[in-house]
Amino acid sequence: MTDRQQLIVKNVDAYKQQIAEAERWIWEHPQTGFTEWEAHGYLAEKFQEMGYELVMAGNIPGFYTDVETGKPGPKLCIMGELDALDIAGHPESVNGMTHCCGHHAQCAAMLGIAGALKEPGALDGLCGTIRLMIVPAEEMIQLEFRENLRKEGVISYMGGKVEFMHRGFFDDIDIAMMVHGTAAGEGEPYDFRCGIGNNGCMAKTIRFKGKSAHAGGAPHLGVNAQYAAMLGLQACNDLRETLQEKDTVRFHPIMMGVNCAVNIIPDEMKIESYVRGRTLEAMKRENKKFNRALAGAALAMGAGVELCDRPGYSPENHDKAFMELAEQCCKDLVGADRVRFDYNGWSTGSSDFGDLTCVMPGVQFYAAGAAGVGHGIDYRIISVDRICGNSAKAQLFVTEELLSNDAAKAKEIIANYEPQFGSIREYLDAIDELTLDKDAVVYDENGNATIDFQK
Ligand SMILES: [Zn+2]
Ligand SMILES: [Zn+2]
Repeated sequence: MTDRQQLIVKNVDAYKQQIAEAERWIWEHPQTGFTEWEAHGYLAEKFQEMGYELVMAGNIPGFYTDVETGKPGPKLCIMGELDALDIAGHPESVNGMTHCCGHHAQCAAMLGIAGALKEPGALDGLCGTIRLMIVPAEEMIQLEFRENLRKEGVISYMGGKVEFMHRGFFDDIDIAMMVHGTAAGEGEPYDFRCGIGNNGCMAKTIRFKGKSAHAGGAPHLGVNAQYAAMLGLQACNDLRETLQEKDTVRFHPIMMGVNCAVNIIPDEMKIESYVRGRTLEAMKRENKKFNRALAGAALAMGAGVELCDRPGYSPENHDKAFMELAEQCCKDLVGADRVRFDYNGWSTGSSDFGDLTCVMPGVQFYAAGAAGVGHGIDYRIISVDRICGNSAKAQLFVTEELLSNDAAKAKEIIANYEPQFGSIREYLDAIDELTLDKDAVVYDENGNATIDFQK
């Protein structure tokens, strides 16, 4: 370790207690996306106590603050996510929610970063600006709630980072970084890992519409929306063999239940799903087939189906040079044998960090320190030092590497980066194209139907 790296370790360790307290407090106060006011309030207070001035998102949780080095240079954004998951089965769930993706640990690490940057000498030799950002709503859940927020004009996009992009909070950012927690499996002792990227996703709400009737006495008068939904999902499942491995498409529908009783033919069945894929083009192409199958199933049963598609997250593509720089920093901190960076590794999960990688160089890597299954009922933190402390230190090592020496390395990464979209506005216009609202099967008086499942 260099002298500067040793100083970073010392500066973060000075906040060990605050980091540990934050990790526990936010774990005990889990809230899902766009409602995370408790964690927001806790963190805002801690940041302000350290002397930071915050720019609040305002009508949704989240904020940012800029750490100025005093010398001109690139602007780096470091983020922590606020939201928990809806998972009532977790033994430590609070009101049915738990931090079983470990986002609370990211926020605790952010507090360590914020503290360390206030220590004497922390900014010596750096140039540019470091934006510390606390973002809401990474998990793409509770689609109906978010759609209502959208209709009320509170948000424009379902994910926190995309919403922050829309609000202009990334307009002057040149390069972005995040560290997510991870559970290292038994026999896989490592402290950091990273792949080259992960799938994007779009969010779907599908509403099959039938006709209620007496289930025993007069089913001939009804149209069973549940059977139409089941037929639709069967057709989608049969389409899976037409998916190509290279596109890493994932479709994982969940039936959301019916407003009905056992002696009534159900007149409604709602399904939520994502279509995930390696490229926006693949997501669009395969989603069209799924929508066709759903419309066809509705027609077969004499039912209707409403299709509601919304942009989710874009595929995440890490900048290779930036990833190499982060890898070296992780190795400097914990030793080469405890770092697993895989430049061919691709995950089929999704994150709205992907949206940022469409317009600026970015890397999201993972710090171990949890156990159990992510999004599972046995997820728990086993080492705050690793999942929060290591995370904070590594992110500051990366910051040092990027912004020292007149930010030569940051400038090189930024200059060589080839954006998929020319600007954030151009990007948002492109994902707006995914929005679809269709009543896909409309019958005339003779029972003939018009099918319309595309834009
Ligand atoms: Zn998650
Ligand atoms: Zn997560």
